Amino acid sequence: MQRALLSVSDKTGIVEFATELVALDFELVSTGGTLKVLAQAGLPVVAIDDVTGFPEMLDGRVKTLHPRVHAGLLARRDLPAHMQTLAEHQITPIDLVVVNLYPFKETIKQPDIKLAQAIEQIDIGGPSMLRSAAKNYVSVLPVIDPTDYEKVLELLHTDGLTNPIRKAFAAKVFAHTAAYDSLIATYLAETEFPEKLTLSYEKFANLRYGENSHQQATAYRSAMPEAYSILSADIMHGKQLSYNNLRDADTALRIIADFTDQPTVVTLKHMNPAGIGQADTIYDAWDKAFKADDISIFGGIVVLNREVDLKTAQAMHQIFLEIIIAPSYTPEAYAELAKKKNLRLLKLPFAQPIAPMKDVVSVLGGVLVQDRDLETERASDFTVVSEKQPTADQLASLVFAQKAVKHVKSNAIMVAVAGQTLGMGAGQPNRIDSVKMAIQKAQTKVAFKEAVLASDAFFPMADSVAYAAAHGIQAIVEPGGSIKDQASIDKANELGIVLVFSKTRHFKH
Ligand code: 5GP
Repeated sequence: MQRALLSVSDKTGIVEFATELVALDFELVSTGGTLKVLAQAGLPVVAIDDVTGFPEMLDGRVKTLHPRVHAGLLARRDLPAHMQTLAEHQITPIDLVVVNLYPFKETIKQPDIKLAQAIEQIDIGGPSMLRSAAKNYVSVLPVIDPTDYEKVLELLHTDGLTNPIRKAFAAKVFAHTAAYDSLIATYLAETEFPEKLTLSYEKFANLRYGENSHQQATAYRSAMPEAYSILSADIMHGKQLSYNNLRDADTALRIIADFTDQPTVVTLKHMNPAGIGQADTIYDAWDKAFKADDISIFGGIVVLNREVDLKTAQAMHQIFLEIIIAPSYTPEAYAELAKKKNLRLLKLPFAQPIAPMKDVVSVLGGVLVQDRDLETERASDFTVVSEKQPTADQLASLVFAQKAVKHVKSNAIMVAVAGQTLGMGAGQPNRIDSVKMAIQKAQTKVAFKEAVLASDAFFPMADSVAYAAAHGIQAIVEPGGSIKDQASIDKANELGIVLVFSKTRHFKH
């Protein structure tokens, strides 16, 4: 007769599973709560106290932590000396361990959980048994997941528990206990950048492929999911997002989070905003964002921070778009947009701000971790360094351009008026090229005569100011901080334009 030890917090399916185990001639051993459920179902089950000769104690903190349990799990069946030792101490080997752990994650997700309550939900005996069984997987099968019960029964019935299959169950255990401990470590950590970085992520979806079709990819979501995240958005219509879609949509969500004060629309392609529009209505905001760059938007992503109405839906319906994300859609707007089979319609509430968490990027051989860039400048953060003072309109445009340039790949230049981007220079290895690209693009727009220019980092020399002023730009905002700042200030004064320092650099690579 084989022995199975059952000790589960989540009792889903345990009675059915145990019933089958009894039919397969297993002797059942259980801890308090699990025993009660099995006994109530009329199953023969031995109490763990009778195995250890000790009562469960310390409010359940010590139930299975005993040599009679762990020797039964860890003894090597192929070593006569080990089996001899078990016999000497009258210890019965355990062949199957069915354990799932105290719900630590579910506990800390609840609002207002006290540290002491969380600590009580740290499972000690469960992971210990699982790890003992997993180490000895050649002879002992650890089962951690109720969704595996059926598969385990089938394997037992068909004698299908080969060594590689047992090894896979062991690997699942160590991944599970490692993730469990990672979450505890993160929860308890006093420092934001610990010596050992433990991350706890769960598979969200296998993706069709990565950045390109020859790269495989999977999306993982934090064990503690964020509400404001593309991975939390509700896909109402259309197929799953691709790897590039997810990164682009994430970027779009980060951008629009900086424009909450008014109805705003962000259009996005290849990790850069194609257009940003802000107005009194969501339709006008869409119209501005679309007209900011009516070419790049094709095949792009649109994020709107207000409900999509029919008029806006009809306008967007004219354009080939990949994804639309909004807090809600009127029924008529949804019906209009859902006519397109391949267009993805996502719903995500925009009420929460971006969580002040860390972002992780990988380099060869490691990862870099940093705070998210959650700084946004207001007019009161600006210092006018030119002789010429900005008008109220210019100041509003400078604030808007500054918010927008923060989200463009460096070297980033944004030419804009309040409420509409007009032209952008992105990702050029030198700043003056980005200036030229941004202005060239913006010059085609009617609103250009009012345009201002924002730079994500300081001008290393006066050429950018000279070029901008010569091409009709009336006001510039840049962080300042170059040893050549004075040359840029002198050039602004010489050419009679406004120059403002924001003091905060926003590199984005
Ligand atoms: P039950 O509901 O059967 O009383 O308890 C089941 C839970 O207790 C399982 O989640 C299992 O991981 C956990 N557990 C088993 N042995 C021990 C132990 O010795 N100490 C602690 N703290 N938890 C245990």
